[in-house]
Amino acid sequence: MTGLWFTLLTLAVFFAMEGVAWWTHRHIMHGPLGWGWHRDHHEPHDKTFEVNDLYGVVGAVVGTGLFIVAWLTGLWWIRAIALGVTLYGIVYAFVHDGLVHQRWPFHWMPKNGYARRLVQAHKLHHAVQTRDGAVSFGFVFAPDPHRLNAILKARRNERPSADIPSA
Ligand SMILES: [Zn+2]
Ligand SMILES: [Zn+2]
Repeated sequence: MTGLWFTLLTLAVFFAMEGVAWWTHRHIMHGPLGWGWHRDHHEPHDKTFEVNDLYGVVGAVVGTGLFIVAWLTGLWWIRAIALGVTLYGIVYAFVHDGLVHQRWPFHWMPKNGYARRLVQAHKLHHAVQTRDGAVSFGFVFAPDPHRLNAILKARRNERPSADIPSA
C-alpha cells in the first residue's frame, strides 16, 4: 500500500512544483528581491553560464537536502517529496534549458504537439526583456500561445507585437 501512496505523493509534489515554480518566477525572480539573479536570462549575451543558473543550483541543493533528510529519518513520505521535487527539476531542465534555450550540444526543436507549445509559450515569456510586463511564468504547463500573444499585444498596443516565434 505504501508503494501506491509513495507514487501518488511523488506525482502530487511534481505537479505542485509547477505552482511553486510559477510563483517563484512571477514574484521572486521578476520581483525586486530576485531580479538581480534573473536579469541576465532576459538579456541577449554569449556567455555559457548565466547568474540565473544559480536558481537551478538552489533547486538542486533543496532536492539533495530533502534526500539527505529522508535518508537520515527513514521516512518514506520525505523521500517521495524529494523525488517529486527532483523529477520536476529534471523535466524543467529538459524543457527550459534543453528544448527552449537549446543549451545542449545538438539541435532538436519540436515541430508540433505540446512540446512545441511549451517552447512557444516560454519564448513569449522572453518577448519582454524587462522585469515587468512578461507573460507565461510556468514551465511544464503552457498557456495557449495565441492568447499569450494577444495579452502582449494589448500591453504594448503602441507598437505591433512580435508574432509567435517561428523557431
Ligand atoms: Zn523570467
Ligand atoms: Zn528562459
